[in-house]
Amino acid sequence: MAVRRTTLQRSRNIGIMAHIDAGKTTVSERILFYSGRTHRMAEVHDGLATMDWMAQERERGITISSAVSQVQWKNHEIYLIDTPGHVDFTVEVERSLRVLDGVVAVFDAVSGVEPQSETVWYQADRHRVPRLGFANKMDRVGASFDRCLDDVRTLLGAHPIAVQLPIGSEQHFAGVVDLMEMEALYFEEKDQGATIVRGEIPEALQGEASAARERMIEALADVDDEVALAYLEALPLSTSVLKAALRRATIALQAVPFLCGSGLRNKGIQPLIDAVVDYLPAPDDLPPLRGHDFTGAEVVRERSVESALAALAFKIQVLDGRKLVFFRIYSGEMRDGESVLNATQNQSFRVKNLFRMHANRSERITVARAGEIVAMVKARAMVTGDTICAVDAPIILERIEARAPVISVAIEPETVREREKLTEALATLTEEDPTLVVEEDSETGELLMRGMGELHLEIVCDRLQLDFGVAVRRGNPNVVCRETVTQSATGRGTFSREVDAERLYGEVEVVVRPRGRGAGNHCEVDLVSSQPFVKPEVIDAALEGVRDGMLFGPGGEEMTDVEVVVRAIGVDAKGGCSAIATRVAAGEAVRNAYRQAGPVVLEPLMTVDVVVAEEHIGDIISDFASRRGVVEAVDTSNLRTVVHGVVPLRNMFGYAMRLRSMTHGRGAFSMKFKSFDQLS
Ligand code: GDP
Ligand code: MG
Repeated sequence: MAVRRTTLQRSRNIGIMAHIDAGKTTVSERILFYSGRTHRMAEVHDGLATMDWMAQERERGITISSAVSQVQWKNHEIYLIDTPGHVDFTVEVERSLRVLDGVVAVFDAVSGVEPQSETVWYQADRHRVPRLGFANKMDRVGASFDRCLDDVRTLLGAHPIAVQLPIGSEQHFAGVVDLMEMEALYFEEKDQGATIVRGEIPEALQGEASAARERMIEALADVDDEVALAYLEALPLSTSVLKAALRRATIALQAVPFLCGSGLRNKGIQPLIDAVVDYLPAPDDLPPLRGHDFTGAEVVRERSVESALAALAFKIQVLDGRKLVFFRIYSGEMRDGESVLNATQNQSFRVKNLFRMHANRSERITVARAGEIVAMVKARAMVTGDTICAVDAPIILERIEARAPVISVAIEPETVREREKLTEALATLTEEDPTLVVEEDSETGELLMRGMGELHLEIVCDRLQLDFGVAVRRGNPNVVCRETVTQSATGRGTFSREVDAERLYGEVEVVVRPRGRGAGNHCEVDLVSSQPFVKPEVIDAALEGVRDGMLFGPGGEEMTDVEVVVRAIGVDAKGGCSAIATRVAAGEAVRNAYRQAGPVVLEPLMTVDVVVAEEHIGDIISDFASRRGVVEAVDTSNLRTVVHGVVPLRNMFGYAMRLRSMTHGRGAFSMKFKSFDQLS
């Protein structure tokens, strides 16, 4: 038992997160290289980076799928989960946050905290994920470690604790001072930084280094009693005591250890991996897992190998024609050939073909344990968000939140012959990606894809071509709208027809009412007191008719935030009514009520944050107005100005280019879905 506990303590599940271009891929590649996982350093601009394995990612130089990689470092196993940085893929970020224990947040030391890093930071806050900070690109003109820390403090409201100081910066960036050991670290250029040369802190930096160490200890004293006591009594503090205190504070989300370096120049990466081991949590350092059982009662489970199995399926992906499910094991063990329970679907199945993954390569294993991220060949109906657990110890974990698609595009195969192939390929893709929805227009036969953004759908089209060999033509992207009602209304529907010499009769009255934005739809039966007797199956049929009928509004868009109540079910002169006719009547009643209830179209509104220099604020604000957007706040409390606003998505096409020209390439923006709403 003791042995297993140690094994778990030697494991780390981490993700590297950053604003696009901050250097996430570059840093990940260095981690793989120094840990001996790869033998050749791949560069993003070569299009060869190991973690960016999908062809589309290589072409665009961005990272989309959360590939998992495993490295060994100083007797520890580190699982690296590469996470996407683009806003279209926030659901992927969200999914990976569910299965991570810690995050390395990479910042560009020149631009500091950018809008997208804020989004990801708050997502990590919400999931209570401990973090390390890394100020990358210290070699670039304009780099500043201090300003980066200030940004993190003021823009993200976090408590960074610098455990290093840069030695020089910009083209003179030479290495780092380790404030724990009080020594200088340099990285040998001959072997791509693999050899670390340790030495005295340069004379000119000694005063600054002592002051920085003092600040580090003070900050730790603020959050840790052991350090506070020693500090007050002016007792010497050993490195191991300080590191242990910083580890506790990091795991308790009270501090973010901060380091610096340059991925591209091969400086500062090994100390970063050390910091992952030193400060980020092992799987069993985190609070117990919480879920519920079939009765809804809460289940609390220790994250140990000894507890019963609990795992979360977080990704489905087709690799080499095999459909694989990726999951995180939180507790217990999973063995090849053993029966387990898909608790979410209440279905047991036998584990077949377990794999440990490294980007797009896989290694067969027979057992996987708590703390690991592994893949297995997909079992039947399994979908992302399902909890897999021991047959005799059910636990259901919270599902992964899916989001509403906001962009649609019509597609068709370039040749009619490929239609079937296309439909099949799309079925596979929608299974992998819960944010992709494909619909066929029953009248025109046109295929419509809906997704999270333009880039998202563009990449789907590329994959159709590259992975499935189906070339498609696509139309212009459109925003996906919804409808709702603005007032209450009553509607009636009747159905009366002679079928096989039998009269089928149904009559239903419903009331529809608007609900608050984001409240979702609801339907129920609440019959008036004068309601004549009807059989329970007729009532069920009425409710079913309502459920079908309420899905779409008079404008053909998906209906949202409405309530429909069945008030009365009519009978014919002989007191009879049929279930099927009642069902049809109910649908008609809803449609009639909708038309009377002031239906309106809701469009996707986006929260847009633009970071610009002060001189451009005026341009940004008037451009917002021309897009029918609203400026909610202009934040000038920091070094840079952030304009926060809300703009309809339909008016955001091409914004990146417009912003570039307005700001001469120096503005940055982030955009995320806010709500379906009417613009006031
Ligand atoms: P990602 O989008 O966060 O994955 O960023 P990448 O790793 O793809 O890097 C974006 C660009 O920044 C690439 O051109 C890299 O070569 C460059 N880059 C990454 N790290 C550094 C660095 O430390 N210094 C400099 N000067 N450039 C870097
Ligand atoms: Mg990348």
